[in-house]
Amino acid sequence: MGIDRRKFLTIAGLTTLTAFGRKVPGVVPAEDSTLAQFDIPTPLSGKRWALVIDPRKCLQQEGCRDCIDACHQTHNVPQFDNPKDEIKWIWKEHFEEAFPGQDHPYIDENLKEKPVLVMCNHCDNPPCVRVCPTQSTWKREDGIVMMDMHRCIGCRYCVAACPYGSRSFNWRDPRPFIKDTNEKYPTRMRGVVEKCNFCAERLAEGLLPACVEACKHGALTFGDLDDPESEVRKILQSHYAIRRKPSLGTQPQVYYLV
Ligand code: SF4
Repeated sequence: MGIDRRKFLTIAGLTTLTAFGRKVPGVVPAEDSTLAQFDIPTPLSGKRWALVIDPRKCLQQEGCRDCIDACHQTHNVPQFDNPKDEIKWIWKEHFEEAFPGQDHPYIDENLKEKPVLVMCNHCDNPPCVRVCPTQSTWKREDGIVMMDMHRCIGCRYCVAACPYGSRSFNWRDPRPFIKDTNEKYPTRMRGVVEKCNFCAERLAEGLLPACVEACKHGALTFGDLDDPESEVRKILQSHYAIRRKPSLGTQPQVYYLV
């Protein structure tokens, strides 16, 4: 592991505690943090984290991978040559594949033929959590669907249960295939599942998700849907947005403006 596991879990746990110990709107860091006296970073707190994606802004930057590269570098995602070994936290899929049966006459024709960003949707009703026999994946109070790779036994029930292909299994030892290891984030081992965690470790340090920070084109907005003043709430109130495979009842918390 690149960092001490106890420290990592302590920070993650503090995020959960502070998310409900105080009322702090949107993504504004808590100002009254009692953690400050211990020189511990002030976490961002929220009650229902969500991500809003504007694919048209992505498409204006053809071939842009800034968010993908930032996420994968931050989280030590390996780069395998063989696609069957691929580990993905955030990637692109064609609109028709990402949103089967959801096109309608008013969706931009250009959008329909182009790739859109996809990732774990941090579903409100996550089937992956229900099937995990070791509780190595769970939903936090703030909505983030987490993974503890140390408890994962590699059964891949969650991979089968996720209807979005959002989980990857490490068929091989990923460590030799990490280009530039980030010592602040743990690496994984062969035989475990992984996926996007909405950058829980960065929220714990008062930082936005790496993908959001890396996007300079305003295509990604992250915030607390429970806060009426948050940017995500305002965007969703004023724009039409869709989610992936709504008929499944998973209630994704990644929204797409179309
Ligand atoms: Fe689970 Fe898949 Fe939903 Fe993510 S997108 S919470 S992995 S079911």
